[in-house]
Amino acid sequence: MLRDSFGRVATDLRVSLTDKCNLRCTYCMPPEGLDWLPSAQLLTADEIVRLVTIGVERLGITEVRYTGGEPLIRRELVDIVARTTALTPRPQVSLTTNGIGLARLAEPLAAAGLDRVNVSLDTLDPATFKRLAHRDRHADVIAGLAAASDAGLRPVKVNAVLMRDLNDQEAVPLLRWCLEQGYELRFIEQMPLDAQHGWTREGMVTADEILDRLSAAFDLTDDDLEERGSAPAERFLVDGGPARVGVIGSVTRPFCGSCDRVRLTADGQVRNCLFATEESDLKTAMRDGASDEELAERWTAAIARKRAGHGIDDPSFLQPSRPMSAIGG
Ligand code: SAM
Repeated sequence: MLRDSFGRVATDLRVSLTDKCNLRCTYCMPPEGLDWLPSAQLLTADEIVRLVTIGVERLGITEVRYTGGEPLIRRELVDIVARTTALTPRPQVSLTTNGIGLARLAEPLAAAGLDRVNVSLDTLDPATFKRLAHRDRHADVIAGLAAASDAGLRPVKVNAVLMRDLNDQEAVPLLRWCLEQGYELRFIEQMPLDAQHGWTREGMVTADEILDRLSAAFDLTDDDLEERGSAPAERFLVDGGPARVGVIGSVTRPFCGSCDRVRLTADGQVRNCLFATEESDLKTAMRDGASDEELAERWTAAIARKRAGHGIDDPSFLQPSRPMSAIGG
């Protein structure tokens, strides 16, 4: 088991398939993009599947989420998903994506056994999308969402990050639209994980603000039918349910005490926290001939060092040197 010194057990593995992305969302990276990892440093599909297999078969991982960068860019994605869903015990397998290309890939991914998808959509307005993501791809995202739903990848979840004076007036319209489409919306507080280091506390639209805005238009009640457990989103029934909305207050309402996550970067580094400043290098060990048992030992040791919390509020907080796109969101 991947148990840390505070007794938390990591069962939810987030795997970044690439650090590259076809959008340039302001809260993540600059318009000109970043220096991408050289391809020789990226884990191959076989290496990814080997590490995921060790996680599932030896270390108690029960959920695998593929992310990035943009995972739909990774050519072997469908094959990686199929090989993951074939593992025993079979993990839940999901994808976090910007939805560009999902119109084409939703069916093959569903056929490969993908269970769920989270699609990021921060605005209903194509012009705002272009300002926020620096690419004119709003229609592709909307088409990707519809294809995911048609392919049975339900409930389709939508992730939205609100930014002050950019899309913060869209909390209510986004929720109304998601309710109409049958998608489950989750707002995520903006975290200090952008490559430009432009995050400020004042610029962040907080969970409280989001809930205030939503409450002006909808009746929100705590979804106490569902145990929150380790889920990051606080979930609310909308107008009595059954539809729900989630709010992930990563900064102002941290949930580190029940965190069950571990991350594997596209270049094979285990990170025990989004905000970790240390990583554990499984790729080099693997390429130097480490056995499955040795890799599992390294992974277990990396989790044992997990800190109690992300520490954003500590005076000594240091933003990780890698941005969200390189860590795997
Ligand atoms: N490209 C995929 C996507 O757009 O979903 C997967 C990677 S992206 C890093 C994963 C999620 O992280 C997205 O929902 C995105 O909105 C969120 N994200 C990125 N940077 C963030 C930040 N600084 N604060 C909060 N969420 C962020």
